[in-house]
This record gives sequence, C-alpha cells and structure tokens, in this order.
Amino acid sequence: MSNDIQAQVVVIGAGPGGYTAAFRAADLGLNVVLVEKYSTLGGVCLNVGCIPSKALLHSAKVIDEAKSMESHGVSFGDPSIDIDKIREYKEGVVGQLTKGLGGMAKMRKVKVVQGVAKFTSPNTLAIEGNDEVSNINFENCIIAAGSRVVQLPFLPEDDRIIDSTGALELKDVPENMLVIGGGIIGLEMATVYRALGSKISIVEMFDQLIPAADKDVVKVLHRYVKKQYESIMLETSVTKVEAKDDGLWVTFEGKKAPKEPQRYDKILSAVGRRPNGDLLDAGKAGVNVDERGFIAVDKQLRTNVPHIYAIGDLVGQPMLAHKATHEAHVAAEVIAGKKHAFEPQCIPSVAYTDPEIAWVGLTEKEAKEKGIDYGVGTFPWAASGRAIGAGRTEGFAKSIYDKSNNRIIGAAIVGINAGEIIGEAGLAIEMGCDAEDIALTVHAHPTLSESLAFSAEAYEGTCTDLP
Ligand code: FAD
Repeated sequence: MSNDIQAQVVVIGAGPGGYTAAFRAADLGLNVVLVEKYSTLGGVCLNVGCIPSKALLHSAKVIDEAKSMESHGVSFGDPSIDIDKIREYKEGVVGQLTKGLGGMAKMRKVKVVQGVAKFTSPNTLAIEGNDEVSNINFENCIIAAGSRVVQLPFLPEDDRIIDSTGALELKDVPENMLVIGGGIIGLEMATVYRALGSKISIVEMFDQLIPAADKDVVKVLHRYVKKQYESIMLETSVTKVEAKDDGLWVTFEGKKAPKEPQRYDKILSAVGRRPNGDLLDAGKAGVNVDERGFIAVDKQLRTNVPHIYAIGDLVGQPMLAHKATHEAHVAAEVIAGKKHAFEPQCIPSVAYTDPEIAWVGLTEKEAKEKGIDYGVGTFPWAASGRAIGAGRTEGFAKSIYDKSNNRIIGAAIVGINAGEIIGEAGLAIEMGCDAEDIALTVHAHPTLSESLAFSAEAYEGTCTDLP
C-alpha cells in the first residue's frame, strides 16, 4: 500500500497562519492537507504564546486590581495563590481552543497529518514521524512553519534557565528571577511572575524597554513598573552565567551593570525569536531562504517558486498572530484564483503589560526617519474621568498626523486596556481619516476610548490653517 497522498494545497504548520490558510482554502472548495509537528493544532500562539500568556496575565491583573482597591476603601486581604490551579486553568483555556480547531478541521474535511514536513522536490514533501503518510504530492504549498526561541549561546544547560515556553509552564514561583530582554514577551512574563510573588530584575541591552515603541509611551510604563521591580538595567548585557548549587550567578556589562556577579533563583531568557525557514530543506524545492531563516514573498505571499507560498512569522516582522492570519487569507484566496493582495496600511502591536502599551501605524521615530512633516495630538489620562475613577491616570493617548493633509499616520496609547482601544486608530489609518474625522466622531462618555478623539482635537488645536 502506498504511503503517499495527494493534495491541491498542503499547508506546513498549524499555527494561526497555517490553520487559517487551511480552513480558508477548504472553504473555497480546495482539497487541503495540514501538516503539524505536534499533536495539537494552534502553533506557538495557542499552545505556548498569545493565549496561555494572556490567561496568566488575567490572573495577574485581578491580583493587582484587588490589591489596589484598598485606596478605594475596599480590602480583600492577601491573595491565596494555588499555582497548580492557575496552571490547570491556563491549560484548560489552551485545551478548549486547540480542541475547537481539531473540530473545525474535521468539519471542513481538512486532512491533518501529524509529522515533520521537509521538501524533497518542488512538488513533494517527505513526512517524518508518521506511520501512515510518508510523502505528500502537492499542487500548491503554503509554508507556515513559524519561528523558534533565540538561544543565547553562553547560557549553561540548567533547569533553572527557562525561555517563554518554560515560563508558561509555571512549574514554580521563584523567589527572585532575572529576565534577560526587556521586550514584550519578557515584560509580559515579568508581569505574571511579579504578581505571583517573584522579585523581578530586568536587563535590556537597548536604552529603553520595548525598543520598537516610542520613548514617551514606554517612559510611562517604565515609571510605573520601576517601583515593582528590584532593578531595571538598561544599556546593559549579561556576559556570563554560572550555574551553582546555591543559584545562578550572573555577570553583567554596561551602563547599569552591578560590579559584582548577582545571584538569581531563575533566569528567563526572552531575547527574541528566529524564523524556521532554515529547517525545511526548502532548497530542494528551489525556495530561497535568507541567512536568518526568513523566506521572501511578494504581496500575494508567493515565494520565488510561484506555486509555493509562505506566511506568518517566517516571512518577516512583525512576528504577530494577527499578521499571520491576514496573510493566510490572502495566500489561500490567491491559490483559489482570487486576485487578492496583502497590503495593510498598518498592523497594531500590543504589550499586555500593566499598564498596556499599544501602537499602530508609524511611530514618531519612524515618521522622523521617513522625513515626514508630522504633528502630534496627545490627551493625558490625568484628565480622563474614567481613568480617574479607576485610579489609573498614568496613561495617555497620542495620535500622529501628516501635516500636509492632517491625515492620521500613527497612534500610540499607554494605559489600562490600551490594546482594546488601539483598533479604532488602525481603522482610522486604513480609512484615511484626518484629525477632524476622528475628533467629530461622537464617542461614548466616560470611556477611555474618548481619549483618542480628544488627542485628535488637541492636534487640531495646534493647527492654525484649518478651515
Ligand atoms: P507558529 O504559531 O509558530 O506555528 C508554526 C507551526 O508550525 C508550529 O505549530 C510548528 O510546530 C509547526 N512546524 C514548524 N515546522 C514544521 C515542519 N517542518 N513540519 C510540520 N510542522 C512544522 N502574537 C500576537 O499577535 N499577540 C500576542 O499576544 C502574542 N503573544 C505571544 C506570547 C509569547 C510567549 C510568544 C512566544 C509569542 C507571542 N506572539 C503573540 C507571537 C505569535 O505567537 C506568533 O506571531 C504566531 O504564533 C505566528 O504564527 P505562525 O502561524 O507564523 O507560526
């Protein structure tokens, strides 16, 4: 009996990019095979990324909010933390979603093959680790193999040194933990462990946390978390880690480096992710992969081999789930003969820290680099009735405009629920709204979302040549 199967479309990887592409292609009437290394669908996002981290962050948020209620005249006492139950809850959330995906694949008659796919020719994949399927012959392929954690070469092999996946396993709550990397993932995990009781130190090589966001926005987060963490060492790097019986001894170098090695119970390394393009034998299909593992694609998500497409983390930044799912739709629709293209004006980024930071479109830094003559409107949450009521006035909203036509080109919000509010700014950029459109849109009062409209009004106030 032959172990070879045929597919009009084969998708490699069942993360948000891969499962979305597979489902869309099946909905459009194509015969689809989805290959996934692991036994559950959902990829990094559902299993060890977006979803479990947000489930844990919710617990962190409630713990912090309950504590802060004392100043409102409501006391709950110290939280009693059952780490096994927190882990169980998180696993339940992940299980519910990944099982749901399995059901959706079945419903659409997408054939799921568990195993590792590698190219053997421009129309064939070999499958490792599956007894029933050895090869898949395909007409079209969508590569959605995602990314993996970057490992620092000098870190010793030790159970006490973890990456984001290890942190999400939540095996214990260390007394003190060093987070290497002040980017979104490191800071989100720091938020969780700090709320559960760990003393957190953060080391970041750049001169600000979340280096991709504007300095003024990050400053608010920095000021807020500074009181909660043991130390935040900017412009500093780790040069050596020694795993000893009494702990992990870390040597630092840079502006804020302690003179002597410091001892930690745990280290979370969160220094970034690298694309998986280099693990697929893509050369055997003639697909070009660059030295970092990225696969270049055109606006229709085609690689240099026209019937092979690529989407998600392995085609470039930003490595975000919502970028992957949108690319997935386009790739599947192009294969089905539609003339679609991936041409978003903007893709939002959110750090689900406390306070949250969200931005979309151009940052001020990027607008400057592009030489755009831009103006900014800001609205401080110290003037927002809703933020004052919540006792969380540290935030602000800012919107950025091209002065030549007053159209919005970017926005950033720092404060509670910033990630929920930023969507409106994304829509405004996509629709080509100008400051007046946003300012004249009636927003509900009192909401935090009003602050975006007030920032547009503030920008208008700076314009002397408005009709
Ligand atoms: P992945 O989700 O990486 O999926 C790729 C899949 O391909 C994997 O399941 C892998 O097993 C499989 N695979 C790889 N190679 C093969 C092969 N040869 N054969 C078969 N299968 C293969 N993004 C957000 O937008 N919001 C967030 O809040 C967010 N939080 C995050 C938190 C953490 C801790 C992490 C690590 C990431 C987070 N991300 C977040 C990023 C997000 O998870 C990724 O951008 C997203 O998962 C990328 O989707 P993808 O489909 O490209 O690939």
